[in-house]
Amino acid sequence: MAETTLDGVTKRFAGDDGEVLAVDDLSLTVRDGEFLVLVGPSGCGKSTTLRTIAGLEAVSAGAVHIGDRDVTDVKPKDRDIAMVFQSYALYPQKTVRGNMRFGLEMTTDLPDAEITERVADAAELLDITELLDRRPAALSGGQQQRVALGRAIVRDPAVFLMDEPLSNLDAKLRAEMRTELQALHDQLGATTVYVTHDQTEAMTMGDRIAVLDGGRLQQVGTPMETYYEPTNEFVATFVGSPSMNIVEGTFDGEAIQLPGFEFPLADDQREAVEAGLTGETVRLGVRPEDIVLTDETGPRTVEFETLVVEPMGNENVLHLDHEMGEVVATVGGNQRVRKGDRVRATLGADRVHAFDGTTGEALFNRTRDEQRPPGVVGARGTDDRAETDGGETG
Ligand code: ATP
Repeated sequence: MAETTLDGVTKRFAGDDGEVLAVDDLSLTVRDGEFLVLVGPSGCGKSTTLRTIAGLEAVSAGAVHIGDRDVTDVKPKDRDIAMVFQSYALYPQKTVRGNMRFGLEMTTDLPDAEITERVADAAELLDITELLDRRPAALSGGQQQRVALGRAIVRDPAVFLMDEPLSNLDAKLRAEMRTELQALHDQLGATTVYVTHDQTEAMTMGDRIAVLDGGRLQQVGTPMETYYEPTNEFVATFVGSPSMNIVEGTFDGEAIQLPGFEFPLADDQREAVEAGLTGETVRLGVRPEDIVLTDETGPRTVEFETLVVEPMGNENVLHLDHEMGEVVATVGGNQRVRKGDRVRATLGADRVHAFDGTTGEALFNRTRDEQRPPGVVGARGTDDRAETDGGETG
């Protein structure tokens, strides 16, 4: 186990039509024992970042530390890391046992008995003991993924590096493996850096998530921090599904003027806009669950026309039309709204976000009001009602 630090890591590639800046001055600390998810859209530099930690790419500038060692110029095999890829890259002619042993046999001087024991332990942990004599061709995708994980676990590395390890699995198996990987991490407590483009994986698996765009770090925080307190519009719209609605307007000193609708601001919101706004345009953000249907009228209620209703069972996703544009709202699955219905909804006073129209930076965020729900009868590992720390690890 080891803390892993990227210090101003920059990676440029010579592309066909000029230089590509894949990672741009990235500084990030992955804490000892932490499960950190690197997330962002395709091409944002996630894999390249991971590969610079692994040593598979040399950095153009900056440094990488694993534990108290500067590994910037250290070969991958000497970095004490183990990598799990999307393609499991198992040797087809070797058995599961052979695949799990191979790396240790090639790169360590461990005695045979020790290797046998490590393989047996990892196989038991991953519930693949019965499969040890099979070859990869005789395994399902999920089983192959477990073998790939097993091969990493037997190395007992300081850091696990995982690049989209679940993306070849079908949706149900992926959801199962998500939970299993978390349980595995709880057991092993190993520092893990996990790359995915899938915000659901990031939200559900990460102790913290680091959101990248265009090679630049946008925000690093707990899933709840990135959801409730995004630093900019990119993070706000990337995290959460369906995405946050964004409507563009202008600030008139009191309220945000949107097409056909005026959103009055509370004093602290107005002050935040006055302090941070660089131009004229403000982009108001509101999550689908914060557009709430109501019979009442008020200063923040809007009438919409229902364009589309997508029933999901537990909820209905409504596509609503207004002069300000189309927005998406979610309501309970038992709330019957039909295409063509006119509906009235409130945007909660403390439920909206505002972003600078020029820079995209957050001017203010919604209030964060996590509550302890009824039915929680004891904190983790105790039987009292002591408050637990929400998201941080360590
Ligand atoms: P994906 O989710 O699609 O894998 P990613 O976020 O992992 O994307 P990277 O693979 O890190 O993104 O790529 C970042 C940028 O660097 C992209 O523009 C990519 O085209 C470019 N790039 C990556 N590897 C190379 C290379 N070997 N040579 C040239 N350009 C590269």
